[in-house]
Amino acid sequence: MTSHSSNSSEGSRSDNSDLNAITRYIAEKFGLVDKEEREKPKILDDVSFDGLINHIKSKDVTKIITMAGAGISTSAGIPDFRSPGSGLYDNLQKYELPHPQAIFELDFFFDNPKPFFVLAKELYPGSFKPTPCHYFIRLLAEKGKLLRHYTQNIDTLERVAGIPDEKLVEAHGTFHTGHCVLCRKEYTQNWIKEKIFNDEIPICTACPGIVKPDIVFFGENLPDKFHHCIQKDFKQCDLLIILGSSLVVQPFASLVDRVPHTCPRLLINREKVGQTSGIMSMFGFGGGLEFDNPDNSRDIAWLGDCDEGCILLAEKLGFGEELKKLISEEHARIDHENLGGQENKKAKEPIDIKATEENLTEITDVKEEINEIEVTNVKKEININETTNVQKELTVIKTTNTKEKNIAEFTNTKGNKQDIVKGECSKRKSPKKPISPGVTVKHSQKQKELEKP
Ligand SMILES: [Zn+2]
Repeated sequence: MTSHSSNSSEGSRSDNSDLNAITRYIAEKFGLVDKEEREKPKILDDVSFDGLINHIKSKDVTKIITMAGAGISTSAGIPDFRSPGSGLYDNLQKYELPHPQAIFELDFFFDNPKPFFVLAKELYPGSFKPTPCHYFIRLLAEKGKLLRHYTQNIDTLERVAGIPDEKLVEAHGTFHTGHCVLCRKEYTQNWIKEKIFNDEIPICTACPGIVKPDIVFFGENLPDKFHHCIQKDFKQCDLLIILGSSLVVQPFASLVDRVPHTCPRLLINREKVGQTSGIMSMFGFGGGLEFDNPDNSRDIAWLGDCDEGCILLAEKLGFGEELKKLISEEHARIDHENLGGQENKKAKEPIDIKATEENLTEITDVKEEINEIEVTNVKKEININETTNVQKELTVIKTTNTKEKNIAEFTNTKGNKQDIVKGECSKRKSPKKPISPGVTVKHSQKQKELEKP
């Protein structure tokens, strides 16, 4: 990676001479440049969200770079595996991870790959629907305004949303392909997926190596495409939009300094992030976002929900309705495809199941530990749209046990937050013994309760 300091000098270059830039940087650092000379050009007349909208409309902004973090996928229901108390983290506890990040550490992976593949199954592409943010970015691409989208996410929702491959840099890798960790033989997403969904560790067909999806683990190099694209993209960027990222993971975080000094930067996030501390900037160490600097004329923070921010942005830019239409069409299409495999069963129309205690369902099969677990009296908590007679896989995410009852909460493996059910469960052979989070079971709803009145 290039250092911070040369990144920030890049934008101030008036010509292409590296020597000039270095000289200038040193002069600035030691206070040898007049104040006037150091003053930044005024970019936005009105340093506000609306001021930025006017800027976008009046200038021909066509080289937008979007940078995204986990925040753009939150509303899709992607579980946050890092937080203790979240279902996924609890699921992984039975594997005794030294810390949540260990799941992306090569040493740990070689020692025990199982937790990674459990996580991979939970997060697997195809199980979640892209959010308004993803479709906003797709529309930017379709309108010829997107130079590139850089994502830190590994959920591949960008691909699901239809953002073209050439516009996409998956900085932390992707599930799209995988390689044997020993001989580097390449495997397709489908090949790996089949193994993962059979709860198998994918093993290379040519050697005893494990096949790892091309997710960047700690200590691994970022993809070549990332290094290649940042070199040419950032210097021509005319609007940088940062979405749902805490801007703490390097080298992704320092990309904000690579755009020209004249390029406006918009942060859409729950908190203000990416600002360099005062002392660091006093010593001339690179940039960061400058919302609170008195001479800031290009950095805007829109604080709030990423989806709301993107929808608002689309509305102000005149394609709000188009965005909403795209979201509902695409979500309907994905729902239809997800139901595709079930269509030849008895099920015909979706019906709304009311959340009452009468909606008992029955666990008919247990995927792991067959015949050892019995789950009864499962009841739905929340209304959901459901198709009749659908077999579903449920994963235990939480157990609450008393002397009399062992209560478990389940979520379906698609991670739909709304679809949480509770039931009593225990090991059949030792009835008082509760089951642990992470166990996957199959259940099907009782037909008679699902029939339409
Ligand atoms: Zn191999």
